[in-house]
Amino acid sequence: MALPERWDMEVDVAVLGSGASATTTAILAADNGAEVAVLERADVVGGTTALSGGVLWVPNNHHMAEAGFEDSREDALAYLNSLSLGMMDDELVETLVDTGPEMLRYMEDNTPVSLHVFEGYPDYHPENPGGKPEGGRSLDNDLFPFEELGSWAERINHQPDAVFFPATMLEIDTGQVEAIPQEVLEARRARDMRSTGQALAGSLIKGCLDREIPVHTATRARELILDDSDAVVGVRAERNGEDYFVKARKAVVIASGGFEWNEDLVKAFLRGPMTAPTSSPENEGDGLLMAMDAGAALGNMSEAWWIPGIHVPGDEMRGRTFARLILAERTWPRSIIVNRYGKRFMNEAANYNAVGHAFHTFDPNTFEFINLPAWLIVDSRYQAPIARHPVGPDAPDWIRRAGTLAELADEIDIDAAGLEETVARFNEGAVRGEDPDFQRGVSAYDSYNGDRSQEPPFTTLGPIDTPPYYAALIESGALGTKGGPKTNAQAQVLRARGGVIPGLYAVGNAMAGVTAMVYGGAGGTLGPGMTFGYIAGMSAAREPDHIA
Ligand SMILES: Cc1cc2nc3c(=O)[nH]c(=O)nc-3n(C[C@H](O)[C@H](O)[C@H](O)COP(=O)(O)OP(=O)(O)OC[C@H]3O[C@@H](n4cnc5c(N)ncnc54)[C@H](O)[C@@H]3O)c2cc1C
Repeated sequence: MALPERWDMEVDVAVLGSGASATTTAILAADNGAEVAVLERADVVGGTTALSGGVLWVPNNHHMAEAGFEDSREDALAYLNSLSLGMMDDELVETLVDTGPEMLRYMEDNTPVSLHVFEGYPDYHPENPGGKPEGGRSLDNDLFPFEELGSWAERINHQPDAVFFPATMLEIDTGQVEAIPQEVLEARRARDMRSTGQALAGSLIKGCLDREIPVHTATRARELILDDSDAVVGVRAERNGEDYFVKARKAVVIASGGFEWNEDLVKAFLRGPMTAPTSSPENEGDGLLMAMDAGAALGNMSEAWWIPGIHVPGDEMRGRTFARLILAERTWPRSIIVNRYGKRFMNEAANYNAVGHAFHTFDPNTFEFINLPAWLIVDSRYQAPIARHPVGPDAPDWIRRAGTLAELADEIDIDAAGLEETVARFNEGAVRGEDPDFQRGVSAYDSYNGDRSQEPPFTTLGPIDTPPYYAALIESGALGTKGGPKTNAQAQVLRARGGVIPGLYAVGNAMAGVTAMVYGGAGGTLGPGMTFGYIAGMSAAREPDHIA
């Protein structure tokens, strides 16, 4: 839109969103001398980042070297290139690998952000060239005391039923938590010390508050304001039902997450059905629409950070039904996922992003996505809860149950003979520790989320042979989309017709994803999000004033 008659606020850099990508941008812009404001649509801050595991994937980071893990620029590039399928932009990938370690050091030195190596967490394709089966690139958050946030502690986004146990993900995953004395846990509780995405979002918001960066909640950015030369000079937001015009002398940074909650955009762009978003429900692609209006080039539009999800009746966040991601559920022994023909269609224990692609297999004869709907099938000796609900006599109704596989197939309307045949074949291999059809258990990754009281591959392989049998509906879901305005290595948005759009930046899930179809390892979304936030903040602060 053209220049408004009034400005309600004037800053150098306006950042749209308050997730990790946004807050990192805001901090760097402020540290480089810009006057900054954060505009957040929700009445809470932190976005999906605050709901997340908070893990960052940063190849060749300093914690790795300190903890004795080897990595190099060459290994990191070889790894990403081995997964590129020709879709990654070399310059952006090199920028990611080169700047990630610098971003991490800067954030740890200058903000409360603090991480440690998530020991043993393998890359998601660990056997690929340059992959790290022993982990090191994935970083887990140290605990962050929410008491330091004052009244903002209540305003960090979280799932309605979230329980904040005061231990890091590493402590929990490795069982070290068992050795933590009660009084230590109590002392942590007294300071409201939180881990995972809560720690990351909390420490980033604290970084903004320490710099006195104003964070405006319930302020939904809607339209970019362009001058006569098509430079972006501000944004029209909506606040209390009214227009709110923000002048941004140097830049507007779109960090408003993906478009996974906007059904029209999902249908328009994604490569196949996606019915189970697990992210913050405000992520409706407003940033994408604004960039399109301004003439941005788009990239990676068909992609998302895929993950299988389950809808549990009653799960709502701010009036919208969200899905739970499933990880251990499809990794533990005595579980498989089948389609309506009762057939398996993938290594269920593979990383979620890669698994997500399998839901989009299309049969040209029957003209259908043959792997949707899909069902998780387990037996009564299966040990993991499904979407936090135990399997067994107390299982809720949405976990379907039957005394035989044929009855279960009838109950969920899938091919009974197909299911019986599939389970028989799976069981035959599973007892030997083999999966001849999909090689489940072969990769180091396959065991990570499984039953670690067993030796691989029995961490993930075990027969489905003890009735009653159970089934849960699995949907094609996403942690967020990762298509959006294309950028250069400074995170400046490119114009569809060539050149950059002066004064416009995009970062995080709102930008055309730097790693294309790939999820490098745990933290593979937040690592790049913060790295390009770091770059965008510095670059935006150094822009000339586009408006007086
Ligand atoms: C359960 C779960 C676990 C996860 N674990 C991990 C993990 O451990 N590591 C990892 O790398 N990734 C993880 N992810 C994915 C990761 O959380 C997201 O990819 C990441 O948080 C995206 O960051 P972002 O800053 O781009 O967007 P977000 O964190 O989603 O922030 C976007 C913000 O923009 C706001 N917004 C939207 N529209 C507007 C508007 N018009 N105006 C102003 N504000 C707006 C939103 O309200 C939101 O606050 C996980 C996701 C989930 C759901």
